[in-house]
Amino acid sequence: MLIYFITGCCFGSFFCVVAERLPINQSFLFSRSQCTSCKHPLAYWELVPIFSIIYKKFRCQHCHQSIPLICLFSEIAYGSLFVWFYSQPQTPSTYFLLLWLTMAFLLSLTDLFYYLVEPRIFYSLSLILWGYGFYLGRPFNSLLFILLLLLYFSLPTLTNKLGQGDYLLLISWGVLLPTLSFVYWLFFSSLLGLLAFSINYLFFDKKIIELPFVPFLSLGLCITLWFM
Ligand SMILES: [Zn+2]
Repeated sequence: MLIYFITGCCFGSFFCVVAERLPINQSFLFSRSQCTSCKHPLAYWELVPIFSIIYKKFRCQHCHQSIPLICLFSEIAYGSLFVWFYSQPQTPSTYFLLLWLTMAFLLSLTDLFYYLVEPRIFYSLSLILWGYGFYLGRPFNSLLFILLLLLYFSLPTLTNKLGQGDYLLLISWGVLLPTLSFVYWLFFSSLLGLLAFSINYLFFDKKIIELPFVPFLSLGLCITLWFM
């Protein structure tokens, strides 16, 4: 179990780097990991997930710039996802869910870092997810697809208000859900978003005007898939 968690943490750490670098066109595959602030290359022990961030007290060893809490959180979250994955029967459906949740995980991170649904991640993984879904013979909600597309073109103010990227995600993931589950998904995501907004408004910085919504869509998706 622990080995799955650690493997997942390593992937989580890698995905964090991808989400941080891809939107600003920095290489993430063949360059060594470095501090985002002072660009000092990380030592090998600093690549150990969770432990190294805590040991460094959430600060770079060289420039003392703070390391975002998201990095630690993403390692723990993907580690937990991997533990779930290996506790399930290894069927194509489980792989499909892992792919779906990995896409949700990556796009949540780009939204948290840049308020952006990174188009390269969105389009490529949507295509793979849809293709894999067709291959597995999973139901495709064509009625919802047409309805969401019609809404997209007839009510541009609605889609602008929600955010283009968020709306495209509604289409990409929504068509893979039965209509009732789609409604539940919207409900859970909005509820979580509203809850976070209220907590932030009551207890923290009141000036927040924009909330990254993809993490809530992702959490809502997890809850919906759990109950499906
Ligand atoms: Zn640094």
